[in-house]
Amino acid sequence: MDMDAVKLLHGRYCNSLTEYSRFVTREVAIGDVPMGGNNPIRIQSMTTTDTMDTIGTVEQSIRMVDAGCEYVRITAPSIKEAQNLAEIKKQLRMRGYTVPLVADIHFTPNAAEVAARIVEKVRVNPGNYADKKKFDQIDYTDAQYQGELSRIYQKFAPLVKICKEYGTAMRIGTNHGSLSDRIMSRYGDTPQGMVESAMEFIRICEDLNYNSLVISMKSSNPQVMVQAYRLLVETMVAEGMNYPLHLGVTEAGDGEDGRIKSAVGIGTLLEDGLGDTVRVSLTEEPEAEAPVAIALVERYSSRKSLVESQKSTQDSGLKTQDLQHNPYEYKRRHTYEANAFIGGHMVPRVVVDLSNKNLKDPAILSDAGYLYSPLLDKYNMAEQSVDFVYFADELPSFNLPGNLKQLYNYKTWLKLADKTMCHPLFTLDEYVQDADRSSALNLVKLKPADIDSDAFGALPFDQSLVFVLETESALGMTDQRSFFFKMEELGLDVPVIVKREYSFPTDDSELKTQNLQLYAGTDLGALLVDGFGDGIWIDAPGIETKIITSTAFGILQATRSRISKTEYISCPSCGRTLFDLMITTQMIRSRTSHLKGLKIGIMGCIVNGPGEMADADYGYVGSGTDKITLYRGKEAVKKNINSANALDELIGIIKEDGNWVEQENI
Ligand code: SF4
Repeated sequence: MDMDAVKLLHGRYCNSLTEYSRFVTREVAIGDVPMGGNNPIRIQSMTTTDTMDTIGTVEQSIRMVDAGCEYVRITAPSIKEAQNLAEIKKQLRMRGYTVPLVADIHFTPNAAEVAARIVEKVRVNPGNYADKKKFDQIDYTDAQYQGELSRIYQKFAPLVKICKEYGTAMRIGTNHGSLSDRIMSRYGDTPQGMVESAMEFIRICEDLNYNSLVISMKSSNPQVMVQAYRLLVETMVAEGMNYPLHLGVTEAGDGEDGRIKSAVGIGTLLEDGLGDTVRVSLTEEPEAEAPVAIALVERYSSRKSLVESQKSTQDSGLKTQDLQHNPYEYKRRHTYEANAFIGGHMVPRVVVDLSNKNLKDPAILSDAGYLYSPLLDKYNMAEQSVDFVYFADELPSFNLPGNLKQLYNYKTWLKLADKTMCHPLFTLDEYVQDADRSSALNLVKLKPADIDSDAFGALPFDQSLVFVLETESALGMTDQRSFFFKMEELGLDVPVIVKREYSFPTDDSELKTQNLQLYAGTDLGALLVDGFGDGIWIDAPGIETKIITSTAFGILQATRSRISKTEYISCPSCGRTLFDLMITTQMIRSRTSHLKGLKIGIMGCIVNGPGEMADADYGYVGSGTDKITLYRGKEAVKKNINSANALDELIGIIKEDGNWVEQENI
């Protein structure tokens, strides 16, 4: 074990809170593609074919490898699929593909014991390896709890021994949505419960002297997922362990939502220096996942040298216990409410820059969520309508919606005859030197390092002040995070809008959009999950405003800091899937996407689906060929209904509950 790495981390969840530093884990051999240690962060994904369809699975695996997958996971729901892994492996090798295979196991120790003799790695879910979930709340005495642990030991030890004998690695993969009744009864549905669930299994492996382990703590809620991985690292280090981490957000969904949710969860941890392999779970073809994972991970391939070359921020040696917020529990940073609009309990605000648009045409506001009707000469607000538009030194020649705040550079603002809903944006020096401030709201832009400047020391603080925090650093997230730590140290409760600018040197507009979602999702999401930020402002010249607007709202939704749309928790599908998840998700979305704030789970199978849809309000779960079971929360309310009527039935249940609204035509 690399005891230096362990020592470095003791009392923290990462090496440094203020600069990028990768946590070096124990190297684990997985076929001929080792993971952890100083190896690159590995990319992986999972097949969606029926495991008994050998050719289909082989061909899909090849497409995944060609797209960049370094490990391929295949579901093994029973012994026959586990046995067929041998045939799949043989055919892949015959075609020249040596990719290590991973068997995915739920509920079936006997399938695991077969698979462990065939493939390079097995994944077990400690929530269901030795337990069948009955949603029972049991008050265990310590002796009873110990008795349960001995029972698990008996069930799990044979697999560990086989893995040891065959040189097979193992992932202990906890899922937030499928914790055992034992863990739920004692720790609840919490990051601590997730960590303990894995630790019980890790301790058994250590007792049997087996260390080829990789650990994951997945959840469909990026906030819970980030907290659980951080707590896992701190717990492992306290017990002298440094197993590699497999990062993933489960049931992330598809398209923009899936990418942003994945970036918020996975990207935040990569920024923390955590993670040895990444699987992005999208409800899309599995070969679409690797490029997203690669784009997330690539930003860190040269991070170490960047840190060396840009030693602008010194590692303050800040430990988690020195922080004024708890990184294992969400709490928004305390700020005052400026102008009864930003900070305090207000949702984080969204700013977009329209200064380079045609300011003679009110239709430009539609991309910012205000749809102009020339006939009625009025605006309709969409669910995702921004709170501030920035016009710099330009003046629009049309009337703006009465509830939309406008930002102008200070000198231009000074000259405005009517300042209603118009606010100044100052440089730090302007604000300190110039006395002509607004009595309502003053926005001041600054960079993290400015907090140590004389100008910052001379700031006249009052509750009209809001900071706009920019960064030019390539290590922007940690640069901006350091600023928040210093604000906490100084006891300053000024609201902060976090601003980031992105430019992508490519003409491929799809790639630009995807990278914006991934980069902004990581950089802004990592701050928001820690409760930092009272607003966000994304600039991305060359990308349409409507994409910037939906990315900003998507990040707020993924961090659960501002809900503006329906959330879909859809599984990525696998060999157990009983219907076409992509088509079904799109069909459900087309009729329910206006139900702001509802969470709808769309799960491919009844075996794992109900557990994995976590905190969804409603569930649409495959329970047989052409059969769907509908859930209200965790309760199955319509069982095995025909798939042709299932969506109408689901809408009926939503209506019964009073949660349905008709879609407005705007
Ligand atoms: S919920 Fe989806 S991904 Fe999970 S086992 Fe079932 S079909 Fe596979």
